[in-house]
Amino acid sequence: MEYISTRGNSAPLNFEQVTLAGLAGDGGLYVPTAWPKFVAADITAMAGLPYAEVAARVMKPFIGDVLSDDELAELCEQAYGRFAHAAVTPLVQLDGQQWLLELFHGPTLAFKDVALQLLGLLFEKFLARQDKHLTVVGATSGDTGSAAIDALAGRDKVDIFMLHPDGRISDVQRRQMTTVRAPNVYNIAIDGSFDDAQAMVKRMFADQSVTGKFAISAVNSINWARLMAQIVYYFFAASQLGSPLRKVAFSVPTGNFGDVFAGYVAAQMGLPIERLIVATNVNDILHRALSAGDYSTGTVTPTAAPSMDIQVSSNFERLLFDIEGRDGAKTAARMAAFEKNKNMQLDTAMREQADAFFKSARVDPDDMALAMRWAQEEAGQIIDPHTAIGLSAARSIDIDSAVPIVTLATAHPAKFRDAVERATGVRPILPRRIGDLFDREEAYDRLPGDYDAVKDFVTAKATPANG
Ligand SMILES: *Cc1c(COP(=O)(O)O)cnc(C)c1O
Repeated sequence: MEYISTRGNSAPLNFEQVTLAGLAGDGGLYVPTAWPKFVAADITAMAGLPYAEVAARVMKPFIGDVLSDDELAELCEQAYGRFAHAAVTPLVQLDGQQWLLELFHGPTLAFKDVALQLLGLLFEKFLARQDKHLTVVGATSGDTGSAAIDALAGRDKVDIFMLHPDGRISDVQRRQMTTVRAPNVYNIAIDGSFDDAQAMVKRMFADQSVTGKFAISAVNSINWARLMAQIVYYFFAASQLGSPLRKVAFSVPTGNFGDVFAGYVAAQMGLPIERLIVATNVNDILHRALSAGDYSTGTVTPTAAPSMDIQVSSNFERLLFDIEGRDGAKTAARMAAFEKNKNMQLDTAMREQADAFFKSARVDPDDMALAMRWAQEEAGQIIDPHTAIGLSAARSIDIDSAVPIVTLATAHPAKFRDAVERATGVRPILPRRIGDLFDREEAYDRLPGDYDAVKDFVTAKATPANG
């Protein structure tokens, strides 16, 4: 399997190269040259398999010969062995139609562990093979940072610099990053929003004075390997609910469009998905794009679901590329115009293509709180604000009552316990595995929202690619 850039101007790479590269040199995102296809019998054969085995089967076509079957199986065992639930991502039934897929049983309590635990192992394996040093630079709206730091802390040949918007993430999220004391981990609080931090990271990837000396890589969902690992749980859940004989819908609390794009790939691979519900909070650029063709940025409004407080969804570019005929020059021109004008219109043909896969909904804070109370009263489940946005959208959208709707439960409620307590009166308890978080000492640097300050910090501390 080879990978090409959505902007058509980077040499094709194999899976090992694309994993270490992150963003393409032309500013685009990597996608496989074609979607692998599973037939019904492939999906039938997944029934009853442990998560790690489903993972190896779903990911194999994307990885090709870069890892042997044994190597891949071992990495999956190792990555998913660290999860605190035997099913890794268990399904929970709420009523006759609504289900939750709990993706938060990893070490940092959010779904991002599912992909990043594997990515950390892939980095280590590939860097040892190449005898190279990697500098991971990322921006986090909260959960990516802690999951990436947990996955990379103390690993050889890699440093991680993680930018977060100062004061705009929960105390649990911040402490999960800033209390990890490893010599290869640097936490930076930026004066600004997540989008400001993300823009600086993107700029650093295109800055020759940085990339000429350091091998810079990404761990946010612009990294292909991360999306790939997220395709797995769509197959895993659908298989348990009767796939391929029965269609399943998924409701996905969405920010950067990574998680829900993984669902789109699952559908392209042959999983019979009825619809993917793109659930946004009041930062609703994706809902506007999918319902009215209007992809234009507004200002970010901080909410109780901070991992979705995003007005530019990086992975949407992967969808645009795919539904516009995989024409890199077209996507490059479209994205250049968007970066200049901060808005983009989707034409009717593109919207029709997207409509075949997606529905969308915007969930305001009142409906989010109502969904939390509904889950509590109807099913005895305490859910986090992000999950509640997904569930609210799932319950508001008209889908045939014979089709199960699976809401991706993206965070453990204890990660956002103030918001959960406000809505439900219940203060969730931190699981034992991270219970001493508030007794550990924090360490992080604060920097202004200024590119040069961040660049100087990173280049002063990072290790050169061959160093
Ligand atoms: C990251 C995150 C999301 C959004 O996922 P995307 O892949 O960015 O769309 C939703 N919920 C939680 C808890 C998250 O951490």
